[in-house]
Amino acid sequence: MTAPDSAARPSPVVPTVDYDQDGVQHGFLRLPYSRDDSAWGAIMIPLTVVKRGEGPTALLTGANHGDEYEGPVALFKLAGTLRAEEVTGRVIVVPAMNYPAFRAGRRTSPIDQGNLNRAFPGRADGTPTEKIADHFQRCLLPMAEYVLDVHSGGKTLDFVPFAAVHAVPDARQQARCAAAMRAFGAPYSLVLRELDSVGMYDTAAEAMGKVFVSTELGGGGTTTARSVAIAERGVRSFLRHARILTGAVEPTPTLNLGMPSDACYVVSEHAGLVEPCVDLGHPVRSGQLLARVHDVQRTGAPGIDYRARLDGLLVGRHFPGLAQVGDCLAVVAVPEG
Ligand code: ZN
Repeated sequence: MTAPDSAARPSPVVPTVDYDQDGVQHGFLRLPYSRDDSAWGAIMIPLTVVKRGEGPTALLTGANHGDEYEGPVALFKLAGTLRAEEVTGRVIVVPAMNYPAFRAGRRTSPIDQGNLNRAFPGRADGTPTEKIADHFQRCLLPMAEYVLDVHSGGKTLDFVPFAAVHAVPDARQQARCAAAMRAFGAPYSLVLRELDSVGMYDTAAEAMGKVFVSTELGGGGTTTARSVAIAERGVRSFLRHARILTGAVEPTPTLNLGMPSDACYVVSEHAGLVEPCVDLGHPVRSGQLLARVHDVQRTGAPGIDYRARLDGLLVGRHFPGLAQVGDCLAVVAVPEG
């Protein structure tokens, strides 16, 4: 099916705030959603706009995936505390972007099974998840110069805390993204290589030339005091870097990492019980055992060894104790100068 009708149709999502008004406004993105328990109902996605005078706009989002919590914690708190007097320009805060997924504690939406970060550019006449994507694509992203999307591993992955950018074709944009990533000040800064970037919010923002930074700050479907502190400090540093908040960015030590090839990803070809053999953040050598997958259907079968394919650092790992065929077991990144 082609999408000319969708592209011509206005977004059905209506903000209850005025983006051009100075001050602090707490409101919603109202997405009509007719259903059994609310015939003319709507999904109400919380949003805060803080604006003062002229200046750049930053768009800050969490829970693009509903089971990742550093973003929502940091951004609900920021929305509740940020004062207009602190701001030059505009900050748009959407703490829980795929709100139905967030309320369900799931990566994807319980309504349409939509993975928002694979739904871009979305459709105005699509599912609720596609309508959210379309609204960000055509209404919110165009308003912003600086875009920060706070992720973590969710229920099935865990990461060392890193901020990330992708390699983009425009060297100037790449440098601006990398500078904003370093300003975020996570313990690790990674030039991320995606397995498949089609449909991602990242790709949409980068294609529009935005200064775009994402993160992976932890995982396992929860937060820690440390990961939340990294998110909160990072969000404020990002806004200082954009000169929307005054004050210098506090320099924080970060280790720069890259992902030179797909060999960084270790994917399970077996289902079973996972024995981690290296912990997150530890250095690994090519050939080193990273994890073993044990048969759970019988005793006496040898475990299957999964080894690093290059020298580096273990930055990501499978989180649940059981793995399926095709699960990402480990992610190795390589320190750069
Ligand atoms: Zn995510």
